[in-house]
Amino acid sequence: MTWRATVLTLFPEMFPGPLGLSLAGKALATGLWSLDAHDIRAHATDRHGTVDDTPAGGGPGMVMKADVLARAIDAAAADGRPRLLMSPRGTPLTQARVAELAHGPGIVAVCGRFEGVDERVIAARNLEEVSIGDYVLSGGEIAALALLDACVRLIPGVMGKEASSAEESFSDGLLEYPQYTRPGVFEGIGIPEVLTGGDHAKVRTWRQAEAERLTRARRPDLWTARENRLKTPAKSAEKPRDGG
Ligand code: SAM
Repeated sequence: MTWRATVLTLFPEMFPGPLGLSLAGKALATGLWSLDAHDIRAHATDRHGTVDDTPAGGGPGMVMKADVLARAIDAAAADGRPRLLMSPRGTPLTQARVAELAHGPGIVAVCGRFEGVDERVIAARNLEEVSIGDYVLSGGEIAALALLDACVRLIPGVMGKEASSAEESFSDGLLEYPQYTRPGVFEGIGIPEVLTGGDHAKVRTWRQAEAERLTRARRPDLWTARENRLKTPAKSAEKPRDGG
């Protein structure tokens, strides 16, 4: 079944953008996923195509109108797909959530602009607020592109080698181990011997240790969360990475 993405935006011409190229673009062309970008402005009712208004209570900027956005959302047949609002206030996106979304029927992604959207439409249309990081973009489109890119590559059949996502950063709560390829010596620096010796068990052990070392050093938050999970017997189903 085709994974369906519907994007509601004031800038439909931004889609598929970079997702029309490379793996995602090929998968789009072959129908592994589909993408409809709908113009929110088409749901404005006045002759100026008004989609925003001044914030109640005053303050800078403009707010996207609840009525216009609700009509745009209602016009996009959601058919059970989660409705996500790109929002810096949202739950930070994780690889686990991306995997869930990729294995579902698809998504409806709403892109905010200006100061954001009228709060009432978030509850009225049951929008799940999703953030792609603790920084502020000028609009939800780049956030939606990032979310779609992360999801699409996990759709079965999109990546050349299904296994390649299993060992990536975050897949088991660890960052990925360092990677090397030819030439064997680059600017005087060689490749760790263990990776060229042909002993797959040693390679696996080295990669696991490196993944753990990097995670501990760079992402103590991930490391602690993993330690806590492993301490809980019911949730300790994680297996070491199969680096072979
Ligand atoms: N006034 C808002 C605030 O302070 O939270 C920021 C609004 S931002 C300029 C406009 C839109 O960009 C947002 O409504 C949202 O759709 C999108 N956006 C900005 N940063 C984002 C992030 N980190 N993750 C997801 N979407 C983001």
